[in-house]
Amino acid sequence: MNQKLRINVRLRGEIVQQFWQVKNHLGLQNDTEVVRSLVKWYHREHRQQLPNPFVHLNTYSDTVLIRDKMLDNLVTLRIKSLDESSFQFYCENCGSTSCRHIRFATTVPDVLSELEEKGYVYTGEHGES
Ligand SMILES: [Zn+2]
Repeated sequence: MNQKLRINVRLRGEIVQQFWQVKNHLGLQNDTEVVRSLVKWYHREHRQQLPNPFVHLNTYSDTVLIRDKMLDNLVTLRIKSLDESSFQFYCENCGSTSCRHIRFATTVPDVLSELEEKGYVYTGEHGES
């Protein structure tokens, strides 16, 4: 995924000093890195409370369909056979076998169990549930 977001931030009053303190404490040279660092920290600490941007819609024989609310689009994951019994997912949106859509899909109990009942073994990375 190659999304970009450009934002301007205006700080006034006490938070200006707090921003400089945080920036210096983190040892960052760039204001954007401060924002990135804080967003990543918040996301890591509060991931469980944040609304899930993905919804599993269904699983066909060789396809998993996911709704990505952030992209406001449907994402198709294809089963990519590695040999007779093992597979990975290929995300058509990201053009990858390793992305956040695949990590999400591996947290949906029905997705892997349905495929494993057919004798397939998933060998790719797993997401966190
Ligand atoms: Zn993807």
